[in-house]
Formats: sequence, structure tokens, C-alpha cells
Amino acid sequence: EAAAKAAAEIADTGAPTIFDKIIAKEIPSTIVYEDDKVLAFRDVNPQAPVHILVIPKIRDGLTQLGKAEPRHAEVLGHLLFAAKLVAEKEGIVDGFRVVINNGPEACQSVYHLHLHVLGGRQLKWPPG
Ligand code: ADP
Repeated sequence: EAAAKAAAEIADTGAPTIFDKIIAKEIPSTIVYEDDKVLAFRDVNPQAPVHILVIPKIRDGLTQLGKAEPRHAEVLGHLLFAAKLVAEKEGIVDGFRVVINNGPEACQSVYHLHLHVLGGRQLKWPPG
């Protein structure tokens, strides 16, 4: 609850995020997939046995999905396809979830678009 409240108070300022440092490999992450456009790495606070974040290497204004413009359509598709490749690699392709938290009400805490790929256990619905 406290963590959700704290996350809900973080706003989209367009400032650099910790993911820039992960992309630049200035801080360590466990990378599971990478190509010229996207990077996928393990979440430090996993909510399921498999919890991977898939992000665009160039943010280009995509702080959150709600800021997407027509020029982003290609990278958005690329991210979703990368999520599927990650699920295959992790052995969860028959049962996994892709989540995008958009904005304070969805508890987005890092304003660099990211897809959460979750699986490895029975997931519940609805989410919190
Ligand atoms: P929330 O923090 O509410 O899950 P987001 O959807 O913005 O909101 O998710 C950001 C995710 O980034 C969190 O799951 C968090 O655990 C993860 N994260 C933050 N810092 C790092 C890091 N250095 N390496 C890997 N994952 C990170």
C-alpha cells in the first residue's frame, strides 16, 4: 500500500530515468534479450517467477504509452513482438501476461515506457 501510494505520487516530468543508465550499462542489469531497438532485463523487484521489463533503447518522448504519437507505432509493435520472444526464451509462452502501467493512477514509477512480462505461476485476474 505504501509503495503503491509512493508510486502514485511520481509524475511524468520527462527527466532522465534509471533506465537510461541501464541502457548505457552504467548500472548492472540481467539482460535477457537485446536488439538494435529494444532491451529486456529482469525486474529487480519481481512480482512473479518470471518478471522482465522490455523497453525502447531510445525513449523519444515515450515516457508513457499515453504520450504515444503516430511515429511511435513501429517501436510499439517491436516492443510487443520482443515481449513474445522473451516469453519463448523464458519458457512461458503458453501462459504469460504483458502489462503497461500508464501514469500515477496505474502506479507507473519509471517514466520511460516499459512492458512488464510476467509469468511462471498462475496469474490472477483482476489485477489490483
Ligand atoms: P511500479 O514501480 O509501480 O511497478 P512501473 O510500471 O513504472 O511501476 O514499473 C517500474 C519497474 O521498474 C518496477 O517493477 C521496478 O521494480 C523496476 N525497476 C526499477 N529500478 C530497476 C532496476 N534498476 N533494474 C530493474 N528493474 C528496476
